[in-house]
This record gives sequence, structure tokens and C-alpha cells, in this order.
Amino acid sequence: MTTAAERALGVHRVLEPVGVLPQAARRLDPHAPTGPDEVRIDVERLNLDAASFRQLTEAHGGDGAAVRDAVLAIVAERGKMQNPVTGSGGMLIGRVAEVGEESPLGLAVGQRVATLVSLTLTPLTITDGLAGWDGRGEQVPARGSAVLFARSIAAVLPDDLPEVVALALLDVCGAPAATERVVRRGSSVAVLGAAGKSGCLSVAAARDAHARRVVGVVRDEREAAALRAADLAHDVVVADATDPLAVAAALGEPVDVTVVCVDVPGAEHGAVLATADGGTVVFFSMATSFPAAALGAEGMAADVTMLIGNGYTPGHAALALDLYRRNAGVRALVDPRVQA
Ligand code: NAP
Repeated sequence: MTTAAERALGVHRVLEPVGVLPQAARRLDPHAPTGPDEVRIDVERLNLDAASFRQLTEAHGGDGAAVRDAVLAIVAERGKMQNPVTGSGGMLIGRVAEVGEESPLGLAVGQRVATLVSLTLTPLTITDGLAGWDGRGEQVPARGSAVLFARSIAAVLPDDLPEVVALALLDVCGAPAATERVVRRGSSVAVLGAAGKSGCLSVAAARDAHARRVVGVVRDEREAAALRAADLAHDVVVADATDPLAVAAALGEPVDVTVVCVDVPGAEHGAVLATADGGTVVFFSMATSFPAAALGAEGMAADVTMLIGNGYTPGHAALALDLYRRNAGVRALVDPRVQA
């Protein structure tokens, strides 16, 4: 028998292994009736997280139909969308279908919401075979059903933004919130993957936090031109984030804060090397390896604080939406990615 506190975390929906939290579970039960403390969502669209989508695409040689089949197989088997290789998920948009009488989330039937908890712990069924998705983009039109627990979070969708944009922003809204927390007036900041969605939001958040110098690190000249045109960063440099010496050389001087927003593995050592003693690295990327970061910092005798980019910070959704609304440069970088 689970306690109310355990139910609030969704423990009652864990099928295997019993006793773990939903995020760590191999399988969840998405089929049980909606509980008194739960909310059921009619799913309209999934947003696969960038690291997961890239891994699936690479594993299937860019074959969209195979990627679609892989996502369907994961959800059917696990009762949630958790990529077994990256461990990551994403989030979803849908319409509130049922609200248990004891749910503390404050949602009402009919509201359109984005879930702000990961798909890796959200009980999920898909009923349309993902027929409307070609497997070639992170945003996945989908019909199905999802469950929120008492300790889940969801944001009512803003009515002034296209939903694909809102979904993309809400997926990565933890990045600018984490950046805002650690950047102090006068800090120097490097953002790895600065032309991406979480990257450009983090650059904008660092500017708002009165950083002295914000450097965007991007992978090629095409991204450099786009980031320069967006006029968000003080400086833009080109370096492969997975090449530590190239990152350090491109930056010149170590910075106070490094924010890792790439969607590929292997950026840990570059991030540590980029950061001055006493500084802070925020690993927002889901492709981050804890051993690589910890042992890498030790091996470089680097006295840096390393933070895992928490997907939740109070106020994170409103902050990201606000940065998008206020910054033409953020819009110029995010919109083409979302439409693509
Ligand atoms: P995104 O929009 O695809 O941006 C990633 C950026 O990194 C792109 O500009 C990409 O360039 C660039 N990049 C890739 N490889 C690089 C390299 N070797 N050197 C330099 N730049 C490189 O991704 P996103 O949606 O912002 O997500 C970024 C990361 O955050 C992902 O790992 C995602 O899983 C993670 N995430 C974390 C949370 C959390 O709660 N912590 C939540 C959501 C997402 P190209 O476009 O040219 O490839």
C-alpha cells in the first residue's frame, strides 16, 4: 500500500522494479483509471528532448520511419517515453481531460497545458501509431493519454505564441533559469551550443543578469553568423565543444560561468577547461556524463563547482517565455529550429 506522499510522486504506477520512483522505473502503468490526486491529459504533441532525438536518428541512419517505430516501441514497452540509451525524454502538450477531486495542480478540464515534468516519468499511451509524424523532427504530433501526479507540474499554454514554439521553450526553460541563478553582475560567461534553443535563452538570461562578457561557443561558421546576427552575445567563437583544447583556445581566457547546452556527449572536459578556478559549470545537456565531468575536473586539478541543470526552478516557464517575447535575437534563433 503506497502512502499519500508516495502516490504524489507516482510510485503507485511503477510496475517494474517495484519500489523505485517513476523516473527510475523500467515500466509504468499508464492504463489504470485516473486517481483522485491525478490529472489525465489527452495528448496532442510530444517534444522529444534533443539528445534523445539525435541518438535515435543516428542509431537508425536518419530513417524517419524507423525512428517512429522505435519511439512507439519504447512507449509500448515502458509505458513512458524514456530513451534507454540517453535516459532522457522530453515533455508534451495536451488538453486536460480529467482532474481528480484531490489534485493540487489547479488545472481544469479543457485547459491546454504543457507538462513541465519529464516524459521519463510520465505514464503515457499512444493511440494513433504516430501516423502524423515522419520521424524527422523533435516535435511529434500524437494522440494518446498521459497522467500527471500530485507533485507534477504543468503550465497552461500561453495564447500569444504558436504551440510548437511554446513547447520548445518550455522543454528547455530550466536552462535560462539555472543561468540566471549562477551569473552575478560582472561575471564572464561562456555558453557551449549558444545558437541552440537552450543556448540562446541562456545567453539572453546571462545578459539580463548583467554579465560583463557573454561568449557564445558554436560549432561552425553558419551558426556563428546566425548568433552574431541575433546580437545576443558579446562575442561569438567557433569551436567543437567536444574538443577541450579547441574550446579553451577559442575562449582565450577562462570564464566565471560555463553553461553546457550542446546535445552531444563529450563536452565535459571542454567545459571544465573553459572555467576559471572558483567558477561554476552548469551541465544542462542531457548528454553529460557524471564520471567524465567529475574525473575530468579532478584530473585537471580544476577547482570548479559543477551543477546539474535542474529541469525545475520556480518561475522557469515564465522566464523562458518572457525572454523569447522580449528578444528578437532569441526568436530569430528558435523559430527556424522549431519550424524545421
Ligand atoms: P538544440 O536546440 O539542438 O541546441 C544544441 C546546440 O548544440 C545546437 O546549436 C548544436 O549545433 C550545438 N552543437 C552540437 N554539437 C556541438 C559541438 N560538438 N560543438 C558545438 N556545438 C554543438 O538543443 P536544445 O533543445 O537546446 O537542448 C540542448 C541540451 O539540453 C540537450 O542535451 C537536451 O537533451 C538538454 N535538455 C536538458 C533539460 C534539463 O532539464 N536539464 C531539459 C531539456 C533539454 P547543430 O544544430 O549544428 O547540431
